[in-house]
Amino acid sequence: MSLVVMKFGGTSVEDQTAIARTASIVAGRVSAGKSPVVVVSAMAKVTDQLLRCGTCAAAGDRTGALALSSRLRSRHRDTAAALVKERASAVELINWIDQKFDQLDEILRGLAAILELTPRISDLIVSYGERLSSRMIAAAFQERGINAAHVDARDVIVTDSHFQKATPIDTAIEKRAEEKIRPLVNEGKVPVLGGFIASNEAGITTTLGRGGSDFTGALIGGAMHAEAIEIWTDVDGIMTSDPRVCPDALRVKVISFEEAAELAYFGAKVLHPATILPAVKKNIPVLVLNSKNPSNEGTRIISLAPHCKSPFKSIAVKKKLSIIDVVASRMLMTHGYLKAIFDIFDKHQCPVDMVSTSEVSVSLTVDSNDKLPAIAADLSKLADVKYEGKKALVCLVGEDIRGQNGMAAQVFTAVRHINVRMISQGASEINMSFMIDEEDADEAVRSLHAAFFQDPDPTIFDVEARKAAVSS
Ligand code: ADP
Ligand code: ASP
Ligand code: MG
Repeated sequence: MSLVVMKFGGTSVEDQTAIARTASIVAGRVSAGKSPVVVVSAMAKVTDQLLRCGTCAAAGDRTGALALSSRLRSRHRDTAAALVKERASAVELINWIDQKFDQLDEILRGLAAILELTPRISDLIVSYGERLSSRMIAAAFQERGINAAHVDARDVIVTDSHFQKATPIDTAIEKRAEEKIRPLVNEGKVPVLGGFIASNEAGITTTLGRGGSDFTGALIGGAMHAEAIEIWTDVDGIMTSDPRVCPDALRVKVISFEEAAELAYFGAKVLHPATILPAVKKNIPVLVLNSKNPSNEGTRIISLAPHCKSPFKSIAVKKKLSIIDVVASRMLMTHGYLKAIFDIFDKHQCPVDMVSTSEVSVSLTVDSNDKLPAIAADLSKLADVKYEGKKALVCLVGEDIRGQNGMAAQVFTAVRHINVRMISQGASEINMSFMIDEEDADEAVRSLHAAFFQDPDPTIFDVEARKAAVSS
């Protein structure tokens, strides 16, 4: 049986029109003889709004939190009513939605009384987004003739208890997928699950981190040995840069796991950074496709990409970073000094993106976060420390830069008008990255894009789409 995991992001399920389109894409796969397992995000912007409900309530604004929740309730009720016309199913679904919002309101009232939002409660609150969307979408599928069965993803995706960014436990997920999903597939049903949400071994709700529905799709695909994992989103695939920054970005037709992982890690929002891992382990191709343009062939992510005449495949940007400079003239070369620095980052569980050293200083980049003052205070016991926010990391990725001379010169010529703070080329030699002020980031991407994607390799990039856009 050819099992495919189809993950639909927030914009692909943002309203009744988008959900109806999603249903016809899934129905198309069923008619083609595939067995889809569907993973859906919360409706667009719902996760942000739920988080706002939580912070509002915990700040004591009970009325504000309940007003936000009431708007979300209406949005879900209205969408459900528009999608499900069969009377008994519609009544059942809308009653269920009301029950979920009654529970949520209860939690918000409690929060407004205790005035403290823990990561555990935050996960519980945001989980309503995917719980609601998945149940509603399963009902909409049934009404459109798809033999859909709703599955609560928290019964399948088992994680540790690191709330807000939990780590999945592969063996437990494999077992649960065999118990809860495989029998449905064998009966010819289309299981529909929410992405992003999970639970720990004690059954307490956790989440996989923002954008984590892609990760759910890949985890299920990996656990069930799917033939392919499809990530359906609002762009034609992985593009040569974020099309919101660079409107003339081109679709990349094919890219390697290693390149896609690097791009995702360095900020290309189109994929959650951990998505590729389960696919790599089982060598399952990942396809990135556009739910608003389903006939487009998208991007195929595979283990070995063909040779590309253009050095880079895509340019990613990670914003909201900080640079920390640690300056100590006598200590740097002493044995154990770098370890002492990294132990501090470890103690605060703060990942470091980039490091560069000079004779007297070590500079590190991290996501801007509220732990920075505490980290700086610990580091200042070792040396002088200063940190600065509003930085961005620009990263050019491509396997075909390996062994090419003069790439750095071409990159830095393209951004010669921009002040570059730190430079790095990873050992994998498939990326070149540098740090600049956040306000220069979009301009840097556009300049690099103009320099490197003038004459792209037509076997790898969709140059036809660019030609069509120019002639229309
Ligand atoms: P979804 O809700 O479907 O998960 P996301 O908003 O998380 O979608 O990701 C899709 C968005 O990623 C696109 O709309 C685009 O603006 C952004 N993006 C950033 N970098 C890239 C890139 N290199 N290729 C394609 N999209 C990108
Ligand atoms: N709904 C979650 C988020 O907005 C997960 C996802 O959409 O991937 O982060
Ligand atoms: Mg996403």
